[in-house]
Amino acid sequence: AKQEERGTIRFFEAAMDHQIREKRMLQRDLVVAIENRQFELYYQPQAAADGTIVAFEVLLRWRHPERNIISPAVFIPLAEETGLISAIDEWVVREACREAATWANKLSIAINLSPVDFRRGDVPRMLADVLAETRLEPERVEIEITEGVLIDDFAGAIAILRDIKALGVRVAMDDFGTGYSSLSYLQAFPFDKIKIDQTFVMKLETNPQSAAIVHAIIGLGRSLKLPVIAEGVETMAQQAFLASEGCAELQGFLIGRPYPIAHYRNIVTKGAGG
Ligand code: C2E
Ligand code: CA
Ligand code: CA
Ligand code: CA
Repeated sequence: AKQEERGTIRFFEAAMDHQIREKRMLQRDLVVAIENRQFELYYQPQAAADGTIVAFEVLLRWRHPERNIISPAVFIPLAEETGLISAIDEWVVREACREAATWANKLSIAINLSPVDFRRGDVPRMLADVLAETRLEPERVEIEITEGVLIDDFAGAIAILRDIKALGVRVAMDDFGTGYSSLSYLQAFPFDKIKIDQTFVMKLETNPQSAAIVHAIIGLGRSLKLPVIAEGVETMAQQAFLASEGCAELQGFLIGRPYPIAHYRNIVTKGAGG
């Protein structure tokens, strides 16, 4: 048994070493990813209750030279650890604003920013510069942040968020319901929207607790006069439930998957209201 135990430990150590090496390698490769043009933006539609597409969320993809596409769920945390995320997010903001500025129908874009951006960089200045440079209307930009932004330096983060709103850019609270203090944060800052996390939406049909939580969040939004968007909507049953609860907007594979903007070209080039 001792022998076997040692074998198991060696196996885990080898697996650990492999993971650490793998992580270091990706972190090294990330350093040149921007200049080597390995990042691509995907766009996922957000629809109003009647199905009309009103905005696109911008989702980053990394086309690694040796590995095909790597998910942001994998590389964003690695970029956050090294601080490289600030340069990456600035690249995303610039590219997405440039793209959206060309859209005939003037739909909005929702851009994810990392909590690390708020600690390391001057986010309001960066946004102001990009808006000036691309001439995109600030009202067409929404920043999605998680409550992680408010965790280490609460007052500092609130001040930065105020400066962002002063530019005319909207701020949405992402992944709502998954953190610890979401409710008090809603009181501390005038968010423009709350986004129900997909973990609740996906279990709507199978888990009564999830349905109750979604019901409560939509009710909270109504009381606070905050539009609520649900993400991860995959089935018509989920859509029907959310519609009956009065959820303002929907996002998910049922409405449309994230794709390069070429896939949605006919939507963004149509005239307003089309
Ligand atoms: P998120 O902001 O919560 O984005 C939603 C994620 O759910 C996206 O994953 C999206 O592709 C996926 N999704 C949307 N609808 C559905 C659905 O119906 N079913 C399922 N199963 N999944 C759905 P993705 O693109 O892999 O992004 C993962 C996370 O990476 C994002 O979570 C966000 O936190 C982060 N991220 C993505 N792009 C950026 C970026 O440019 N900057 C930063 N800082 N973070 C980003
Ligand atoms: Ca998001
Ligand atoms: Ca989410
Ligand atoms: Ca997230």
